[in-house]
Amino acid sequence: MAIVHHRLVVPYTNFTLQYAAIGEELLAAVQRVLQNGDFILGSEVERFEHAAAEYCGVRHAIGVANGTDALVMALKALGIGPGDEVITAPNSFLASAAAIALAGATPRFVDVRDDLNIDPDAIERAIGPRTKAVLPVHLTGRPAEMNTIRDVANRHGLVIVEDAAQAIGATYHGQRVGGCGDIGCFSLHPLKNLNAAGDAGLMTTNDDRLAGVLRQMRNHGLRNRNEADFWGFNSRLDTVQAAMLNVKFQYLDAATEARRANARFYAAALGDVVEVPRERDHEHCVYHTFVVQCDGRDALQARLLEDGVETKVHYPIPIHLQRAAAALGYRKGDFPVAERQADRSLTLPNYQELTEDQKQLVVSSICRFYEGR
Ligand SMILES: *Cc1c(COP(=O)(O)O)cnc(C)c1O
Repeated sequence: MAIVHHRLVVPYTNFTLQYAAIGEELLAAVQRVLQNGDFILGSEVERFEHAAAEYCGVRHAIGVANGTDALVMALKALGIGPGDEVITAPNSFLASAAAIALAGATPRFVDVRDDLNIDPDAIERAIGPRTKAVLPVHLTGRPAEMNTIRDVANRHGLVIVEDAAQAIGATYHGQRVGGCGDIGCFSLHPLKNLNAAGDAGLMTTNDDRLAGVLRQMRNHGLRNRNEADFWGFNSRLDTVQAAMLNVKFQYLDAATEARRANARFYAAALGDVVEVPRERDHEHCVYHTFVVQCDGRDALQARLLEDGVETKVHYPIPIHLQRAAAALGYRKGDFPVAERQADRSLTLPNYQELTEDQKQLVVSSICRFYEGR
């Protein structure tokens, strides 16, 4: 197949623009770390953890190396391991399910709803004698239906680990995500809303005991310099990243507001041609991704690229149909909603620096595609 190079008018990501805006502040933060030589944990990490806990409305925030480790450690700290089942959604990023398997437990998928989030009724039907936890994902930056999930979990004695990787700042009935379950897990990967210049992650909890366990677990199980209580990870939040995150945190709310304004623009302009996400009264979505459901997705994506608009698909292969999941025994047809969404989802560019002209091009390209169809 010939490789065609299109001139991108609307690229999917914006890292260079972001750097241009706050690059000097970031360099100064990195320089501070280099000058004081405090490379492992230390004051930058502590400062970030305090800011993150306050922001998420929780008692404790613990910085870690990435969002996947956060999920694995959260499950382990809650005592989940071999023989246990954890219920999650099949339409998430791979890591939601991988974390369950890496903790030694078995992922158990249930279908999602039109809003791309896990179906609480389906959770209840999937609960069996081995079920120990629910791992809802706040996919695209929209909070999962946490009240119902909490009710189901309470009735059956299950713990809740929130996969809030895509949703920092989102609220559900006024509560920020990360404070809606037993432990919240965030990714601070470059593509996420609060992003490091590399890998980083965060765990949140209101439980003092769990916070202590998680703090030790990310640092070899050590309770002090020389004494370890259990086998732990080396999964500390890197100090250079923490210094940059302290800078970026100041701009998070403005960036989120810009994403929300873009989402409103897209939803108003595209609501008649594709299915667009709609925010409900009880929620505040942060639109990590703006995902539409559409007919002729692959052809539309190709047309957009011809017009200079780069889009992505999150995610074309549901997790239960990945080769990695083969041993779990799922088949095509098991989760019809998630599978249909995998064929129909398209993610439009959405970031703070998107201009009116760029947004207009995205919209007009999509509208032209459907004219005459
Ligand atoms: C990004 C992401 C993760 C994993 O985070 P990393 O920091 O890349 O390890 C987990 N779950 C979801 C839903 C994600 O989007």
